[in-house]
Amino acid sequence: MNEDIRNIVILTGAGISAESGLATFRGPDGLWEGHRVEDVCTPEALARDVGLVHRFYDERRAKLAEVVPNAAHEALAALDRAWAGDLLIVTQNVDDLHERAGARRLLHMHGELKSALCAACGKAVAWAGPLPPASICEGCGRAALRPDIVFFGEMPYEMDRIDTALRDADLFVSIGTSGAVYPAAGFVQTARHVGARTLELNLDPSAGSFYFEESRMGPASELVPELVWELLG
Ligand code: NAD
Ligand code: ZN
Repeated sequence: MNEDIRNIVILTGAGISAESGLATFRGPDGLWEGHRVEDVCTPEALARDVGLVHRFYDERRAKLAEVVPNAAHEALAALDRAWAGDLLIVTQNVDDLHERAGARRLLHMHGELKSALCAACGKAVAWAGPLPPASICEGCGRAALRPDIVFFGEMPYEMDRIDTALRDADLFVSIGTSGAVYPAAGFVQTARHVGARTLELNLDPSAGSFYFEESRMGPASELVPELVWELLG
């Protein structure tokens, strides 16, 4: 597997954290922890019921204290430490399990539970505990802080950096994501376009499976350590 591979981009989704005990986005009932995605994950929802949206992310933030990284997060952190070429782990997850496992070359394209964002000046601050809807930004004093989560219809973070990494990639791996949320779902096509190898690891076939050269089906806690052993020889 590792011959000719120097630069790697890894995309992770809610599936990599499922075995740590965090619910995926769309459970079997089509809901995220009992809520319709439209009710907690859009700018309209925040405008309509700021209390509900803050409470929802307060609960998700509190839950982080009850979970720990699993073997898949640990394996990616080991790869990050050992891999001599370029590596970028792009996570759609808003949990902090990759960094708690020790990953450094990581970016959160959809924001982070442990961060609060000022809607007026764009300043983000580290946040722990509940985020009261009336917390005013200390930077500009103008607006209330909101959860630093990229809602549907908003631009994900660091798209230029992700695009540059994809264009240099020799291998693109997608782990535990349904391939339903764009632009992340389109990364595989950019990677293929530049001739990178493409590999999907997921519990079951995703909406985008057919774009990948290779798909391996199973739990991330088994498939990710196996892949990392292959890559590190
Ligand atoms: P998703 O819920 O749409 O899809 C999860 C995928 O993971 C599914 O295809 C499922 O088959 C697979 N999966 C489930 N258990 C798995 C396991 N043990 N091993 C491997 N694969 C497994 O998630 P998504 O594609 O990441 O959706 C994107 C949105 O969900 C993001 O915007 C993200 O912010 C949000 N989200 C994040 C978290 C988190 O941070 N942990 C949790 C829920 C939702
Ligand atoms: Zn501000």
